[in-house]
Amino acid sequence: MWEEMGEKGGGTMKWLVYLFLLGFIAGGCGKVSREKMKSEQPQYEKWRHRMVEEQIHRRGVDDERVLQAMEKVPRHLFVPEHLRDQAYADEPLPIGYGQTISQPYIVAYMTEQLALKGDERVLEIGTGSGYQAAILAELCDSVFTIEIVPELSKRAQEVIRELGYTNVQFRVGDGYQGWPEKAPFDAIIVTAAPRSIPQPLIDQLKVGGRMIIPVGDFYQDLYLITRTKQGIRKERKLPVRFVPMKGKAEEM
Ligand code: SAH
Repeated sequence: MWEEMGEKGGGTMKWLVYLFLLGFIAGGCGKVSREKMKSEQPQYEKWRHRMVEEQIHRRGVDDERVLQAMEKVPRHLFVPEHLRDQAYADEPLPIGYGQTISQPYIVAYMTEQLALKGDERVLEIGTGSGYQAAILAELCDSVFTIEIVPELSKRAQEVIRELGYTNVQFRVGDGYQGWPEKAPFDAIIVTAAPRSIPQPLIDQLKVGGRMIIPVGDFYQDLYLITRTKQGIRKERKLPVRFVPMKGKAEEM
């Protein structure tokens, strides 16, 4: 009788202890992650604000809309998880498959060169992480972006959708040929370097349109190409280092 009671009482006690421990662990975990989320957001926002001020504005990018887009898009969501804390540093970062997300200043500089007002259709060659595409999505009517590595395109699509952008269309393939079905474009941005400017891209640029593109082998320069009624105007802007353009560009 006593033993039975004891058994029962002990069993109940054991359950109470389990429940208490479970509650403690779950409560503890919940608190940690909630606190982590709370502390993460303002921290990234603060770093992003500093990035815009110190790396971008101070170096001469002053298109207000570009600065606002750079201030808004959460760059840390476009880099691999273990590199998130470096997302706002003044450098490019690896994104897998031997590719990189460009340095924030270069993204801002190239975007400013396109002089977007809001109603443009923009072609991007080299989706990569999707970060540049998100910045463009903030600043124009529609973005068409081509990536040669299917896995990168898939990941970029996920992040962009997750963030709620509906004005970005993706294509997997060699961007050397552009996207003839969607041409002509008001602006073209190329984020992998060919040795010479692909003719199909020039052909797909509207008259009055602008293209920003790194050109060269080991040493590259950023060129701003403007298509005019008379032909094309080429301005050399900055020495840069981009990953080489793959596919047909390698045969040229
Ligand atoms: N704009 C990207 C930077 C990507 S780096 C970003 O914001 O993250 C350049 C990208 O160009 C790489 O992902 C690379 O795979 C891609 N690429 C290289 N050659 C290409 C080609 N011929 N067509 C399309 N994409 C290409």
